[in-house]
Amino acid sequence: MVELEAIIGLEVHAQMNTKTKMFCGCDNDAFGKEPNTTVCEICMGHPGTLPVPNREAIIKAVNMSLALKCTVNPQNHFDRKHYFYPDLPSGFQISQYDFPLASKGEVEYDLRPSPAAAGEGGAGAPDEGIKKCGITRLHMENDAGKLTHRGSVTLCDYNRAGTPLMEIVTEPDLRSSDEAVAFAEELRRMLISVNASEADMFKGMMRFDASISLREKGTKKLNPRSEIKNLNSFKALERALTYEEARLRKTWEETGGPLPRDITVGWQDDEGKTRLLRDKENAGDYRYFPEPDIPPLEMDEKMVSKIKSELPVSPRQKKKEYLGMGLTDAEAATLIDQTELRSLFDVVLTKTKDAKRASSLVLTQLIGFLNAHGKTSAEAPSAEAMLELVTAIDAGQISGNAGKAVLEAMVTTGKPPKDIIAAEGMGQISDEAKIEELVKEAIEKNPKAIEDYKKGKESALGAIVGYVMKMTKGQANPGKVNAILMKQL
Ligand SMILES: [Zn+2]
Repeated sequence: MVELEAIIGLEVHAQMNTKTKMFCGCDNDAFGKEPNTTVCEICMGHPGTLPVPNREAIIKAVNMSLALKCTVNPQNHFDRKHYFYPDLPSGFQISQYDFPLASKGEVEYDLRPSPAAAGEGGAGAPDEGIKKCGITRLHMENDAGKLTHRGSVTLCDYNRAGTPLMEIVTEPDLRSSDEAVAFAEELRRMLISVNASEADMFKGMMRFDASISLREKGTKKLNPRSEIKNLNSFKALERALTYEEARLRKTWEETGGPLPRDITVGWQDDEGKTRLLRDKENAGDYRYFPEPDIPPLEMDEKMVSKIKSELPVSPRQKKKEYLGMGLTDAEAATLIDQTELRSLFDVVLTKTKDAKRASSLVLTQLIGFLNAHGKTSAEAPSAEAMLELVTAIDAGQISGNAGKAVLEAMVTTGKPPKDIIAAEGMGQISDEAKIEELVKEAIEKNPKAIEDYKKGKESALGAIVGYVMKMTKGQANPGKVNAILMKQL
């Protein structure tokens, strides 16, 4: 029995979060808008219109290329890729074929050990799960529109037509569906960290085509592959590759070898199966030729090196920094995957220089309240509101305990701390005259406690402090109460 291994490569499409579309000035944010309202003659492919490349999109794509450690090609150009489909009004897509924006990069990612292999306490040796996947190329193109099939009718919405896309093609370096998913998750973090895409899977902003073939372990030859089209979630990517690998293994057993030629299959999510669509098309089928309406792009070397020098710290590096501050692996992972929480954490950390406190405030209290009230991290309070809360606690305006209640109210009402503190009368009482008066009153009303204290029982003073706190509904500053009590005694 020969031992087989899976050879997997991905093509990832990521929508760029630019203000306008790839080749026209239309609004690039069509989410929730009426169909066919963010369109113009250019993205509708009318004859005689001229596309103009979007500078912002090119800069975002360069950012991502450099994050992927790719070489940005000093000269690259757009090509027409011809195919007919009702969501492609011009009958061709403007893409990049033989001279892409960037080539030859590499991504390092962590393969989380399976729960069974991890055993007690999680990961094994620290370097055990580090993997690498080569990047073949990154090129820019425009997205197609969206078709909705209703019975015998198909509806076309061209709002998405012309949205800037990056296509990231990997080397066939992945060996399992787990590796493919771990790599894709890392890629998503990178897209978000360089602000090239929101990479919101739910909105279809990141989509995958996955190619898989088998070969005998120890051999180098790449066999014909099965390309699985249009996978829209990590779950679909994982399920489709697991299914297709098992199917190819069975075929190998039955026929004694790999597929006879490349094929294209579609993933049927509801059935949990792939279905043969066609023999895989090759470049010749698309009749590529250079886009005559757009001059070649000459990349400004200075601009590229400036972008390179300003790249943010990679998500993996950032995670290492969090671990170095004493955060747990799970806490660091939460911050890396949830950008909203990360920016709140960073803001509190910068202000307080106290990772423990930032972690308690954001990762324990805030997440607890968000979960308790059924909210997502996108609905968390703003960075300004969090800073205002920290400032109010540090200035002694409210106690740490009252701070928790304020944070919960911030989550439920969305109001800033100062409004909540004022409305709830939570302001800590630091007014010395007021506290002096209450301490005097407490001493008069608790002669027994004072007597006990004078006999040497220091804990008896708890009754006095307790009385003052009770009279102020817990809003007196405990430090001040103690100091004034000692003075009066
Ligand atoms: Zn347009």
